[in-house]
Amino acid sequence: MATTSVKHYPLYIGGETVDTDGSFEIVNPATEEVVATTAKGEVEHLEAAVKAARAAFESGVWSRKDPAERAQVLQAIAARLGEQVGELAELETLQNGATLRQTNGFHVGMAVGHFAYFAEVAGSYSFETPQPTTVYPTLSQSVLRKEAIGVCGGIIPWNFPLLLAVWKLGPALAAGNSIVIKPDEKTPLTVLEFARIAEECGLPAGVLSIVTGEGETVGARLAAHPDVDKIAFTGSTAVGREVMKLASDNVKRVTLELGGKSPVVILDDADIDTAVDAALFGCWMYSGQACESGTRLLLPDALHDEFVAKMVERAKTLKVGDTMDFDTDLGPVASAEQKERILGYIEKGKAEGATVAFGGGVPQGPEFERGFWIEPTIFTDVTNDMTIAQEEIFGPVLSVIRYSDVDDAVRIANDTIYGLAAAVWTSDNERGLEVAGRLRAGTVWINDAHMVNCALPFGGYKQSGLGRELGPDALDAYLEVKNVHLDLSGRRDRRVYDLLLSTPAEKKA
Ligand code: NAD
Repeated sequence: MATTSVKHYPLYIGGETVDTDGSFEIVNPATEEVVATTAKGEVEHLEAAVKAARAAFESGVWSRKDPAERAQVLQAIAARLGEQVGELAELETLQNGATLRQTNGFHVGMAVGHFAYFAEVAGSYSFETPQPTTVYPTLSQSVLRKEAIGVCGGIIPWNFPLLLAVWKLGPALAAGNSIVIKPDEKTPLTVLEFARIAEECGLPAGVLSIVTGEGETVGARLAAHPDVDKIAFTGSTAVGREVMKLASDNVKRVTLELGGKSPVVILDDADIDTAVDAALFGCWMYSGQACESGTRLLLPDALHDEFVAKMVERAKTLKVGDTMDFDTDLGPVASAEQKERILGYIEKGKAEGATVAFGGGVPQGPEFERGFWIEPTIFTDVTNDMTIAQEEIFGPVLSVIRYSDVDDAVRIANDTIYGLAAAVWTSDNERGLEVAGRLRAGTVWINDAHMVNCALPFGGYKQSGLGRELGPDALDAYLEVKNVHLDLSGRRDRRVYDLLLSTPAEKKA
């Protein structure tokens, strides 16, 4: 299996690389080989990063730069990322265990496209909008100005390390903020590479810092820091709740992208062969470790047996193994901890009465002796109250749930604390739109899966999050709105100061 030579990555703070006493080993989930080491950031490094971010913001070197000039720097970064997709994808595969096919096409390929989108928006966004003149209560005109919030923090999970950092870096930098990123300590390499590229493309020192560190210390301090004005967090709902509490002390602006348990509703008129492929793609892409994965498959009684049989036959054709081989369909899960957690859920599913229709264990063979492997798994006879239907497993485990009629399907689909995504499969678009309207989720795909479009908002209903990332309005979450009021009357007697000052000043004398 191909590996890169072991390289050491320091932190990136205020335009400088910074090494620390401690270090993290970055482990390839497919082989358990150490592929790199990084400095281990502590709270003191986070403090330095926030200080540098504040100084850069106050200096105006980026925050008061002409938006067109900011756009030029961001476009240069996007171009360099584009030239390095191959290397970055390989690095992503080595740290998060996604197949090279997926990191090229999704994890990194999409990150580059999404950053290019924000680089374009940076130049076209209306930061200043003159309002019509008004005569009441006096002749005046306002200008609505959108201004950078200040110092932002971004906390990133391990599953899509570069892509989910870009969802914060893109709008934050386009809007003129400074930003400190805390990647997951298992997967910081591609974000550290991003920082190097950004510096080489002219991003001023201090505007971006990367502090690799543990969540409970460095992450928590970033969320609570009194000099950080906004926090954008992607991760589990449990930690998201904590981040929201920590952010409340200085009333930070907060964006949360959290967990999901997305339903896929197959209606009785669906194109079964395409829907079978989509059910497997929707749940098992990146071994089920995408937040919006379709993990609950809702089948009508009439189609259930045929659909499951076809899915099992299709599942048998998938190749699990070497992540560096473009022919591989499924790689490992991201860590030993995740593997144990997922196996625990599989045991729980069996204990609660679900039936393993496919997989359900650890793949056997010499290539699976090292690494964090789980067989892609299909459970049938699942009811929506079971643990495997309610909790986010974050592994390649599909729960098949029967329903009797469309009302029943909608009720089951919405019976969850989450609301990130959902899908409906039907050959009748009107019917699809009607059911989509009843599903409580931030994205509903009709006859599709995993379609995340950078030009459209992405985020969750209910406990799947707060606010939206992506889309033309994504910059708004990194901007304050200021109403600048300009008096045009020029006359003392037209002002409304008599609300307090009943006697005009000249008459008092
Ligand atoms: P996690 O919540 O454990 O960790 C996410 C990040 O938070 C990591 O960088 C971690 O170090 C940090 N962190 C941990 N404890 C912290 C604390 N007390 N204060 C501040 N930061 C802390 O999540 P994970 O296991 O790394 O990622 C998987 C989760 O992310 C899943 O629940 C998944 O659904 C979710 N996710 C959501 C989206 C989305 O867009 N909605 C996208 C990807 C992943």
